[in-house]
Amino acid sequence: MKNKQSKVIRTQTERSQHKEHSTPLFLTSSFVFDSAEDLKAAFDETDDAFIYSRYSNPNTNEFIDKVCMLEGAEAGFATASGMSAVFASLMTFLSSGDHVLSCASIFGATHTILHKYFPKWGISYSYFDANKPEEAERLVTPKTKILFLETPTNPAIEVIDLEWAGKFAKKHNLLLLVDNCFATPILQRPIEYGAHLSIHSATKYMDGQGRVLGGIVVGKKELIKEIYLFSRVSGPSLSPFNAWVLSKSLETLSLRVERHCENALYVAEKLEGNKSLDFVRYPFLKSHPHFAIAKKQMSAGGGIVTFSLKGGYKAGSKFMNKLKMIKISPNLGDSRSIATHPASSTHCKLSEEERMKVGITPGLIRISVGLENKDDILEDILQALK
Ligand SMILES: *Cc1c(COP(=O)(O)O)cnc(C)c1O
Repeated sequence: MKNKQSKVIRTQTERSQHKEHSTPLFLTSSFVFDSAEDLKAAFDETDDAFIYSRYSNPNTNEFIDKVCMLEGAEAGFATASGMSAVFASLMTFLSSGDHVLSCASIFGATHTILHKYFPKWGISYSYFDANKPEEAERLVTPKTKILFLETPTNPAIEVIDLEWAGKFAKKHNLLLLVDNCFATPILQRPIEYGAHLSIHSATKYMDGQGRVLGGIVVGKKELIKEIYLFSRVSGPSLSPFNAWVLSKSLETLSLRVERHCENALYVAEKLEGNKSLDFVRYPFLKSHPHFAIAKKQMSAGGGIVTFSLKGGYKAGSKFMNKLKMIKISPNLGDSRSIATHPASSTHCKLSEEERMKVGITPGLIRISVGLENKDDILEDILQALK
């Protein structure tokens, strides 16, 4: 089998004596050993036996193997959520005194870790503007250890040049961490551009059906080993049940992502120029300021479309209430289309000035375009805009 999609579908933990076709659920917290010597060998890591599900589990390993295959990564570690993957990846490598370089429009919870908790641990950070990556050259210091990027960003849909980031990280000897949640490994593989780690909220497209929380970080073997050792004692491990759900979901990831992209591009193109909107943002619209970068590093534009209502904050709330089929929810990447109004929800704690800095206008709406018929999705948006 040469094809990646075939391999993802066919990757499976060894069959048991029952010769089951689909991978069974290994809902067990620990594993048994035939002798004290066998247990010692497992703890000495002279063999790779399963010990305890906080360390590893057959379901978790199957999920990790598939994501590594898709990302072109050597190894991975799966976590209970996307944020625990982000947190474990940062904390494994950072020490007091270190500095992190990132971009202003990163995911809200990631920003809160940097902004609220890093100072307690003596870690500093700086942000460059996604439209001016040249600022990074001025912000990097001898203490900078990590370049943490997210592309496309949530919810501003800014696209950061991974080729540039890979070269910049190499030049300054930084670890390059990329939150690849929006693109998924189907559309973009940061490791090919020199990223050391690619991080996902598996809650989003990897599950794709809004059922479970999960996260994963994949990359170089030596780095994953460090994350594993830190996580093995700090405990953010993914549950076997969630791993089982996620592993099965990966079999349809490429099909789903293809359709999400097709529907999203259609909605974005049809909405562009609508007289109630200031702008429509989608990486594969020519009007997107980072269109050329998106075309270079992504095979399609993804499933998220944003637009800004001319009527501002009030119009944003009103629009949300007028939607019929599309539901109001903070999730994304689901087979069902979802709408959010960041100014009144995910980013309500920021001041308007802070929101504008990261591209969130008062009337910004984020649509996670689902797998329903594209005309049904468009029609619901259009009737709510009226
Ligand atoms: C949702 C999200 C996360 C966090 O993932 P959880 O699974 O909700 O913890 C991180 N990064 C991005 C870009 C996200 O959209």
